[in-house]
Amino acid sequence: MIQTKLNEAWDKINETTRICMFGGCKEHAIKSHVLQKNGILREISEDNHLITLSPSNAYQLEEGFAFQFKKMGINNVYTFLGFCNKHDTEIFKPIEDKDNLDLYNPYHQALFSYRGLCQEIRRKEISIEWIDFLKNTLPVQLNNRATNPLRDGYIEGVKNLSFFKQEFEKSIILQCFDNFSFSTIELPKIELCISVPLNIREPDLNPNNLPYEIWKQQRIVPFATSFVNLIPMKKSTYFIGGFHHEFPCQWTLKLINKLKRAKSKIVIKELSDLVVLRLEFWAMSPRLFRSIPENILRKYKQTFTDNIFSHSEKLETKINLFEKH
Ligand SMILES: [Zn+2]
Repeated sequence: MIQTKLNEAWDKINETTRICMFGGCKEHAIKSHVLQKNGILREISEDNHLITLSPSNAYQLEEGFAFQFKKMGINNVYTFLGFCNKHDTEIFKPIEDKDNLDLYNPYHQALFSYRGLCQEIRRKEISIEWIDFLKNTLPVQLNNRATNPLRDGYIEGVKNLSFFKQEFEKSIILQCFDNFSFSTIELPKIELCISVPLNIREPDLNPNNLPYEIWKQQRIVPFATSFVNLIPMKKSTYFIGGFHHEFPCQWTLKLINKLKRAKSKIVIKELSDLVVLRLEFWAMSPRLFRSIPENILRKYKQTFTDNIFSHSEKLETKINLFEKH
C-alpha cells in the first residue's frame, strides 16, 4: 500500500537522528522549542495545547492543500531537532531566563532570530530528503516536473541561510552584534508566535534564455534575508524584525516602519498577511484559532497553496484572519 509506505517514510525522515547545528558540534540534537516553552508557549496554550501547521502528506495533497491545521501538545509543538543538550541550554540561556529577558537587547534579538533561522534550515534539509525519497519511490509519471527546480530552490535556500547562520554564530561568540540591525515594536496582544527568516524577492528571470543548469549556477548567494519574530508576552505582543547590514531587506524595513506607526486594525492585517502569504511555521492559541471563521480558514488554505512558491513583494490578499467577526 503506497500510502502506508509514504507515511512511514515521512515519519522516519522527521524522526531520524540529527546532529547539533551549532558550528562544528558533532553531538546528537535534542528537540528544541523555537520559542521558550515555559514562558511564551505555555502562556497562550489551552490545556497545554496550541494550533500549528502541519505539511500535508501525499494523500492530503491530493485534496489540493499544502498543509493542515493541527492541535499539538506543548512538548512537541513549535519544536525541531536543532541543538545538542549543551548548546540548547547554554546558547539560549539569556532568552530562556524570564527575569532577565530583554526584547530590546541586540544579543537577545539575535538569539531569537538565530534559533528561528536554524529551524528553517533544518526544515529545508528535511524537505530535500523527502523529495529525494519521492523521486526514488514514486513511478516516474507521478514525479512532478517541478521536482528538480523545487529541490534546487531548497538547496539554494539552505546555502543562503547557512551564510547568515555563520554570521550569527560569529556574533554570538564575539558578543558583538554590529553586523545586524534589529527593531523591537510593542504591539497589542495577539496570541500568535512567529520566528522565521524571510526572503522577499521577485522571481529570478532568465532573460538570455540560458540552459537551466547554467542559469542556476549564475544565481548569487547570499541575498537579502530578514529575520522576523512575534512573541506574545504578558499584556503585549512584541515584533522583532531585522537583517544583516550587508543584505538589507527593503520590504522588512517598510513593514517595521508601518508597524511602528499603524493603528491596531492595520497591525492586525499586517500580521494576518504575514501568516497567509509568507510563513509556513507559526503557532497560535486555540482561542485565537477558534475566532477565525471556517470560510476564512478555507480561503487561507487556498491562497497559501496557490502562492507557495512565490516570494514576490507584490503578493497581497483580502483575507484577514484576525479581523473581529
Ligand atoms: Zn552542540
